[in-house]
Amino acid sequence: MIHVNEHYAKLQASYLFSEIAKRVKAYQEEHPDKPVIRLGIGDVTEPLPPACIEAMRKAVDEMAVRETFRGYGPEQGYAFLREAIAKNDFQARGAKIDASEIFVSDGAKCDTANIQELFDTKLTIAVPDPVYPVYVDTNVMAGRTGACRRGRYKGLVYLDSTQENGFVPALPDVPVDLIYLCFPNNPTGATASRKQLTEWVKYAKKNKALILFDAAYEAFIRDPKIPHSIYEIEGARDVAIEFRSFSKIAGFTGTRCAYTVVPDSVVAYTKKGEAVPLRPMWNRRHTTKFNGVSYPVQRAAEAVYSDAGKAQTRALTDFYLGNAAIIRALFEKAGFPVTGGVNSPYIWINVGKDSWKFFDRLLKRAQVVTTPGAGFGKMGEGYIRISAFNSRENVEKALKRIAKVLK
Ligand code: PLP
Repeated sequence: MIHVNEHYAKLQASYLFSEIAKRVKAYQEEHPDKPVIRLGIGDVTEPLPPACIEAMRKAVDEMAVRETFRGYGPEQGYAFLREAIAKNDFQARGAKIDASEIFVSDGAKCDTANIQELFDTKLTIAVPDPVYPVYVDTNVMAGRTGACRRGRYKGLVYLDSTQENGFVPALPDVPVDLIYLCFPNNPTGATASRKQLTEWVKYAKKNKALILFDAAYEAFIRDPKIPHSIYEIEGARDVAIEFRSFSKIAGFTGTRCAYTVVPDSVVAYTKKGEAVPLRPMWNRRHTTKFNGVSYPVQRAAEAVYSDAGKAQTRALTDFYLGNAAIIRALFEKAGFPVTGGVNSPYIWINVGKDSWKFFDRLLKRAQVVTTPGAGFGKMGEGYIRISAFNSRENVEKALKRIAKVLK
């Protein structure tokens, strides 16, 4: 008899964004004359930078000619892209990362979801609350948790991110093996200082734990004091895996390209306590289950590191940060405590009450879609997340409508 993976039944029935979509659809059907503006899901709106388009077109032309056509590429990514990544994203910041430690993939979502396969099913896992749901749900699916009660899975250690701790959680008071961190954070927009990341690296070293560091929003950091990579912290090479994405820096959400860094020195342990390097394990997993990102897409990603690409992606992220600044200013002026929107495309607003109610209020009275904080975890209750990913025209229109509602 074929048995089902019963751990799936523990997953929360209504995934956040499907519930939002349901409510928006219902509202639109009732009010077809009132167009809604979406500041909810963190998808980008602006087209790919011209440097990426040009590189992609050229690569497509190469694919049309027998002499330059390419079939399967290396599963880990082409050397031209891995080398550009290592040089520009790490070595230029003083982080010793080699091209051989970079694994190009089709998304930070897949990588943050799949990485847990490398680890034992019996682990103590720490996740921030609020959290990017992928970290939690993939461990639920793998059977590493008990049932969900009142928004929390049994067996997980929740790291509360609150206004009091600036949404950078304190070290856990129980020993944990695997720690998910995300900075700049989705959903709170908070960033972690060098000192705070150093504490986490020290904790991981001391406890023989591993940090999974999601830096998908790194490109929005403007403050020179904030680290872009965990590898800017001494010792992190031994205890951290980092995830990056071209989705938000260069508008690749539909094009799909990302990468994961697994340094040679990062290890996990057998039950007998022997250290096992994770890079060969991830290489084995990647080459067995993944067949590489398409050549034109990798060429487009490489163009992000050209002079033109750097200027264009800077302008793109500056543009979204401009949106973030005006969204943040409106809510601050209205007296709401606000985090993010600086060094981050997300604005996290303390609305002081039921976050789904506030979501409904903005949907029904301002026709603006936001994301209720409660969907990201227990600690997200009382907050909403607004995303800066939209045209300036739409953001300004949305803010005018919200201002009227908040009066
Ligand atoms: N990590 C975080 C924290 C995200 O918010 C997202 C997307 O919204 C991702 C990863 C996914 O990135 P990708 O588009 O590369 O799959």
